[in-house]
Amino acid sequence: MQFIVIAETDHGAVSLPSLECVEEARDLAAASGQPVRVLLAGTALSAMADVLAAHGADTVTLIEHEALSDGGAEHWLSIMEPVVHEAVADLGVDTSSEPVLCILAPDSSHMRAWLPRLALRLRAPLVSHCLQVQTNDERLVFVRPTHGGSRHEQMVCPGAHVVCATLAPGARGLGVADTHRRARVNRLTPNLSTETFHERRLHTLPPDPRTVDLREADRIVAGGLGVGGPAGVELLWKLGTRLEAAVGGTRVIADRGWLPTDRFIGTTGKTVTPKLYLALGISGASQHTSGMNRSETVIVVNNDRTAPLFSLADLGIIGDLHEIVPALLACLEE
Ligand SMILES: Cc1cc2nc3c(=O)[nH]c(=O)nc-3n(C[C@H](O)[C@H](O)[C@H](O)COP(=O)(O)OP(=O)(O)OC[C@H]3O[C@@H](n4cnc5c(N)ncnc54)[C@H](O)[C@@H]3O)c2cc1C
Repeated sequence: MQFIVIAETDHGAVSLPSLECVEEARDLAAASGQPVRVLLAGTALSAMADVLAAHGADTVTLIEHEALSDGGAEHWLSIMEPVVHEAVADLGVDTSSEPVLCILAPDSSHMRAWLPRLALRLRAPLVSHCLQVQTNDERLVFVRPTHGGSRHEQMVCPGAHVVCATLAPGARGLGVADTHRRARVNRLTPNLSTETFHERRLHTLPPDPRTVDLREADRIVAGGLGVGGPAGVELLWKLGTRLEAAVGGTRVIADRGWLPTDRFIGTTGKTVTPKLYLALGISGASQHTSGMNRSETVIVVNNDRTAPLFSLADLGIIGDLHEIVPALLACLEE
């Protein structure tokens, strides 16, 4: 079993979901003693090979081209398709046994734009949004959420020699980097004539941060039963707007219809890894914390000093959120 990871960058660094893919591939490849090959495309990539190596890459191919800095799906596909074909050929994939190669990538909006087309051209199945990839009797088993996240299903792709899969951001979490590891690094500068492309990016419009997919949000304002009702949820949306944060909450407030069901966090909802998690009126049940306990900074507002969520807080505020949030909004207004 061989693994190729297609990584991507985020604000000038390897994206965290890409590193999760590298670690997932490293753990799976270790069982068969195979190296992990990583393809990273973009501009100014030199410093990133060591980071990929530290998380488990054995070979890193850096593909640099100006068109990738603001290119759309077509640019990426034109550049990556021949590289992947060559990588598959290099691996000497023996198609008499199955499956032999897994191409793993983060489940990001960018990958979603072009990876399905690559899979189609490779005539490979694409299993999206996996929570985990396992091997069982030399067979790849993809674990993914179903029924709106309330069940997990296992998928196999019988007869497929190459399988593409995307890994849900935050599903695995990042392990400790081994900064002494080094990878073999290749550099490619593809020869492209961009005039022939049909797509051209004119503007990039920022998403509404409040409704951005929670799994991709850097800041989250989350509410629990303590918000008291729809009027309290309105406060969350106001604060979300002011802080440019996505709005989410606990399952119980989604079950009551105060929040859309795709916006609750926890075991049966979304797993999130924001830089800031502001929890308002949330007690901290394990079913909720399992979905947010990898947040970088957690601020908890609760009027009960014994609320379990305080144990995860970097900053805890004991008080009534209906007084604290309006006061905070007034400060932010100023
Ligand atoms: C099978 C199963 C799966 C589940 N999956 C999930 C899941 O994925 N996600 C999830 O979230 N839950 C899930 N739950 C539910 C979970 O067990 C908890 O019931 C839920 O997380 C509690 O939500 P809460 O914190 O909003 O409410 P509560 O536990 O009722 O907490 C409300 C908190 O608000 C505080 N509060 C009240 N008024 C104020 C105020 N004015 N100001 C400040 N603080 C105030 C209270 O002190 C309290 O701590 C699941 C349950 C089961 C059985």
